[in-house]
Amino acid sequence: MAGKGNPNVTQEFNLFEAEDRLAQECRALLDGGSLPDETAATLAKLLAGYEHLLRETKQLIRLSDRREKDMNRLNKRLEQLTHSLAYQAEHDFLTGCLNKGAMTARIEAALAARDCGLIVLDIDHFKQVNDRHGHPAGDAVLRGLAELMQEALADHDLVGRMGGEEFAVLLEQPTLIQAKARAEHLRRHIEATPLDAGAQTLPITISLGVTACQRGEAFAAAYARADAALYAAKDGGRNRVASLERPA
Ligand code: GH3
Ligand code: MG
Ligand code: MG
Repeated sequence: MAGKGNPNVTQEFNLFEAEDRLAQECRALLDGGSLPDETAATLAKLLAGYEHLLRETKQLIRLSDRREKDMNRLNKRLEQLTHSLAYQAEHDFLTGCLNKGAMTARIEAALAARDCGLIVLDIDHFKQVNDRHGHPAGDAVLRGLAELMQEALADHDLVGRMGGEEFAVLLEQPTLIQAKARAEHLRRHIEATPLDAGAQTLPITISLGVTACQRGEAFAAAYARADAALYAAKDGGRNRVASLERPA
C-alpha cells in the first residue's frame, strides 16, 4: 500500500508519470463522447500509437536495466577472478607460500633497499617420507611445514618455496647473529612438532643455511652464500643451522 504519511513505504519512481497522465486524459476525453466523430477517430489512432510507443519504451528500459545488472554481476566476477589470478601467479599451490619467482623478486627488492637476513632451508631425508608413507603424505608434510614456519616466524618475515622441499626465508633482521637466532628458533619448533601426514604424524627435521646480506648485493651472490651454508649444515649431520659471513 503506497502510504502517504507512512515513512516506511517509499513510492516507486515512475519515469513516465507525465506521459501516462497524458494518455489517461486522452482516454477520458474519448470516453466522454463529446468530440466530433472525425476528431475522435484521429485521436483514438494517435492514442493507440502513443500507448504502443510507451509500452515499447518501458520494455526497452526494463531490458537495459536487466542488462546493466548482468554487466555489474559479470564485472564483480571478473574482479574476483583477476584477484585470484594475481594471487595464484605469486603463490605456491601446495603450501600457499610465495612461489620461487615471487620470492626471488621480494628478495631482490629487499636487497636493493636495505640490509637483511636470508635463510635457505631444506627438509632432511624427505625422500624417505615419500618412499615410506607415499607422495600424499609427503605433500601433507610440506603443507604442515609451511604452517609451522608461519607460526614460528614474525609476520613481516617472508617465506617462499624455492622448489621441492627447499624454502627461503627473508628476514628483516640484518645481522648474522639475529638471523641465526631466528633460524635456530625455527629449527627447534619444527623438530618439536610432529606433522600430520594423513593416517599418522611424522617427526621431521630441517637443515638451515643462514647469511646476512648487504644493501646493493646481487640476489645470486646472497642466495649462493645461504645455499652453501645449507650444504654445510647437511654435511655437518643435518637438523642444524650453519651460517656464512659475507666476504669483506
Ligand atoms: P637431504 O636430507 O639430503 O635433503 O635428503 P632428501 O631426501 O630430503 O633430498 P632428496 O633431494 O634426495 O629428495 C627430495 C625429495 O623430495 C625427492 C622428491 O620426490 C621430493 N619432492 C619434491 N617435491 C615434492 C612435492 O611437491 N611433493 C612430494 N610429496 N615430494 C616432493
Ligand atoms: Mg631434503
Ligand atoms: Mg632438496
